[in-house]
Amino acid sequence: MVLPVVALVGRPNVGKSTLFNRLTRTRDALVADYPGLTRDRKYGQAQLNGQHYIVIDTGGIEGQEQGIDKVMAEQSLAAIEEADVVMFMVDARVGVSVGDQVIADHLRRLEKPVFLVANKTDGVDSVVASSDFYSLGLGEVYAIAAAHGRGVNQLLEKALKPLFNSLPDEEDEAGLPTELSEEEALADRQAEDLANLPIKLAIIGRPNVGKSTLINRILGEQRVVVYDMPGTTRDSVYIPMQRDAREYVLIDTAGVRRRGKIIDKVEKFSVIQTLKAIEDANVCLLVIDARMGISDQDLSLLGFILNAGRALVLAVNKWDGLDTDVKNEIKRELDRRLGFIDFANVHFISALHGTGVGHLYESVEGAYSSATKRISTALLTRILEMAREDHQPPLVRGRRVKLRYAHAGGYNPPRIVIHGNQVNSLPDSYKRYLMNYYRKALEMTGTPIRIEFREGE
Ligand code: GDP
Ligand code: GDP
Repeated sequence: MVLPVVALVGRPNVGKSTLFNRLTRTRDALVADYPGLTRDRKYGQAQLNGQHYIVIDTGGIEGQEQGIDKVMAEQSLAAIEEADVVMFMVDARVGVSVGDQVIADHLRRLEKPVFLVANKTDGVDSVVASSDFYSLGLGEVYAIAAAHGRGVNQLLEKALKPLFNSLPDEEDEAGLPTELSEEEALADRQAEDLANLPIKLAIIGRPNVGKSTLINRILGEQRVVVYDMPGTTRDSVYIPMQRDAREYVLIDTAGVRRRGKIIDKVEKFSVIQTLKAIEDANVCLLVIDARMGISDQDLSLLGFILNAGRALVLAVNKWDGLDTDVKNEIKRELDRRLGFIDFANVHFISALHGTGVGHLYESVEGAYSSATKRISTALLTRILEMAREDHQPPLVRGRRVKLRYAHAGGYNPPRIVIHGNQVNSLPDSYKRYLMNYYRKALEMTGTPIRIEFREGE
């Protein structure tokens, strides 16, 4: 699975945040901002034609004219390092500045694709405004207006297309019947594949929540031979293991085996590595520290997991030695802040003592099974009929919304495609009703579900 990383760099005020917000908004904007961990770097998830990618906003590069070290703040260099593509933004209204030249000198020496982006070309002649920047020696100048979106899609297509395995050609929104059966067949094949593969289980969490301790505990019980599996995901360690008859690949983002080599614990936590692990996993085990409560960082990790559509199990760790009233307070906080993911199982564990760890597998397997089990068109359509009978779809402009039939569009997460008329006018409340109805009828736990609507016969 390819999850390309795009870094936005440039002097302050050229419009990086504006572009970042525009890109990450295309799908529920979720920003992992880790102050102290990543300094000014902000990570967001975005989509182009249904394919996910990561955007890094580097804040400002200083723009002082005293050599590369001063000009390129440390975090910008790190972001460039992490990126597959660099978008170097300049301000078309200001023209070439000395700071731009210093940054360009650095970028020219990289082995990475760099796209020179002239922003703020709204209300000015974009050809004239961008011609100045050819002198930076980075080739083509892409004129955009981040604030209005002009030129942004063309730029993305150009920059990202080579990175995705294969972009789906012009997706047919109408979904013609002949293609439908093809889509169902594809989904069927996916379910078949997933049934025969090991469960890729990523252990996700902020620094110090106890990931390494948990992995050591799991491996200690398993007595497996640990080796690094080559993979596209940088840095995470892939550990094959077995539990009862079930095969797993544990994705270790904490770097258990590299412990000791790493002195600075904070530095070993990499957002990109974590995001790639989430994307690559079938199931994510999100570890939360009972002693720290639920932080915004926990919530943004959770957001990334849900956005990626991964199955989810929650482990509240360090449950040992807590007073009953503290435990009750934590449970109340969980209900309050994580009530919206009531479909996921929560385990209270002590990785240190091993308490509760064995039961995690039941939830992981349950979540995987819910996320990947084949669902027939007949069953999905039958459930749709039942939902319709219990509670009719509303009238829109005097006509009742028609929901005809449903089929699976894919798994992990399960995608249910519903066909009908006027489906685009269906209110959110009815969509939620259908979602809950399907969740109950299919007895799905531990996985997000996606429902898509298609207009037509
Ligand atoms: P950053 O410091 O590089 O992250 O820059 P910001 O995204 O904060 O933008 C700096 C200023 O430029 C803000 O006032 C934006 O509203 C403005 N800006 C960003 N993009 C555009 C654009 O496409 N056109 C115009 N006219 N202004 C823009
Ligand atoms: P990581 O950064 O997420 O890999 O966290 P570590 O596994 O390195 O754990 C951070 C600290 O929490 C260490 O001092 C562990 O001993 C401690 N710790 C981990 N799990 C538990 C637990 O279940 N109970 C208690 N009391 N401490 C724990």
